Amino acid sequence: MSAMPASLRDEFPLLAAEPDLHYLDSAATSQIHRSAMDAVLHHETTSRANVSRGTYRLAEAADLAYERARQTAARFLNAGSPDEIIFTSGATAALNLVAHAFGNTLQAGDRVLISVAEHHSNFVPWQMLRERTGIELAMIPVTASGQLDLALLPELMDSKCRLVAVTHLSNVTGAWTDVATLVEAARKVGAKVLLDGAQAVQHGPQDVRALGVDFYAFSGHKCFAPGGVGVLWGRGEVLAAMPPFLAGGGMIASVSLEATTWAEPPQRFEAGTPPIAQAVGLAAALEWMMGLDWRQVHARESRLCELLIEGLQRIPGLRLLGPEMSAQRAPIVSFDIPGLHPHDICQVLDTHRLALRGGHHCAQPLLAALGVEVCTRASIALYNDEADIHALLDGLTFALRELA
Ligand code: PMP
Repeated sequence: MSAMPASLRDEFPLLAAEPDLHYLDSAATSQIHRSAMDAVLHHETTSRANVSRGTYRLAEAADLAYERARQTAARFLNAGSPDEIIFTSGATAALNLVAHAFGNTLQAGDRVLISVAEHHSNFVPWQMLRERTGIELAMIPVTASGQLDLALLPELMDSKCRLVAVTHLSNVTGAWTDVATLVEAARKVGAKVLLDGAQAVQHGPQDVRALGVDFYAFSGHKCFAPGGVGVLWGRGEVLAAMPPFLAGGGMIASVSLEATTWAEPPQRFEAGTPPIAQAVGLAAALEWMMGLDWRQVHARESRLCELLIEGLQRIPGLRLLGPEMSAQRAPIVSFDIPGLHPHDICQVLDTHRLALRGGHHCAQPLLAALGVEVCTRASIALYNDEADIHALLDGLTFALRELA
């Protein structure tokens, strides 16, 4: 495991090129690491060909690079086998894949349990499944600070419950989900567990086997990799029992005029040409992440998060959303300043070279539960430093004066 360099900022080409930019929107999209860009360029200039089709050397090089990327993603998640890794276009596509393919194994009356804290991409696909099949969709409520309230779990988790699909880490509150309690309850009734890891992966490699879940979804663009690629991990026997979602080339065993038979996973779930160069770039970013000292990264992220929360608490009238600093939380900090619209705040901050997100963050049910329609969010990643936090606190003081 390599030591953490003092500043990682220079390893991110955009941040290196814009030294005065305070990028605090990594929960929306992280900046791409140099190794991922280099890997894409190298692949496109040495190995660009379609995969699983050609027998010439270039096509074999593409196959090798793509399947190596699958192996790297499997190591990053500690998956049982690379065959459990399905490349998708992102977390949204991965979640829709499960809602369709696993969803097609469900019947009217079966229950899917999600939570009020979900991103719309782990909310709407289940509502659509409910419309299509008549499943029951139940919700885990949230506490006043937006954390999953597991007190009702015994009532919601009976033998009708077939799947629990929740976020691993909230994109609004920074709250980590208590996965162990959920998994224990799900196992008792034979329900499967899906984690939306879109936010979690930016904060380190994950261990799906230690987590004890059945599905894990994430996007490359949120973990220092290119956009347009994501991963769905599924436990081998669970994937094997699922019908395909999208149909086309690459996902079949045989096609005749009468019938089609499916390929085994993961190919069964990768219809059409996959995001090949993007997967190679993703693998480079994951490899880089696996070489970091995550204890140091977390200590640094927590310190910055604490500094930010302390500063925000000094702003009169500002309401922090999400758990206290002492709770299990990631450095995603959302807040509301009554009377000021987040879009106005973000526009003024932009004039100070601060990039933050304001809006509903694709989590309208959660925001409604927290009693706001919109909020402003600062999200800290491993390339941020104290200067970014001080700039934000100064920028907010300025914005409050400007907009008052
Ligand atoms: N889930 C969560 C928790 C997210 O934060 C996001 C992205 N904001 C998504 C899912 C969807 O990810 P993508 O847009 O990359 O598909």
